[in-house]
Amino acid sequence: MALMINEDCTSCDACVANCPNEAISPGPERYVIDALRCTECVGAAEEPQCRLVCPSTCIVANPDWEESPDELQAKYDQLHS
Ligand code: SF4
Ligand code: SF4
Repeated sequence: MALMINEDCTSCDACVANCPNEAISPGPERYVIDALRCTECVGAAEEPQCRLVCPSTCIVANPDWEESPDELQAKYDQLHS
């Protein structure tokens, strides 16, 4: 399941450099996660690295992108092949 950023984002920029998949970028209203690139950090780390540095609680599951661990790993492998 990809993650998404909700309206509590303060656009602090802390999360961008921590994403192993370059999935986070500034958007018109707040930072956004590209669901096609977010693996919930599967393949790279034990837990979502963006959440570790986010000073808010605005990074949440994206209900429109349900994926199994195997699917997330396959997505990671494709991004880094
Ligand atoms: Fe990037 Fe991982 Fe956050 Fe997804 S969970 S946006 S892959 S840092
Ligand atoms: Fe927004 Fe959190 Fe990323 Fe800062 S670290 S830009 S508050 S999602």
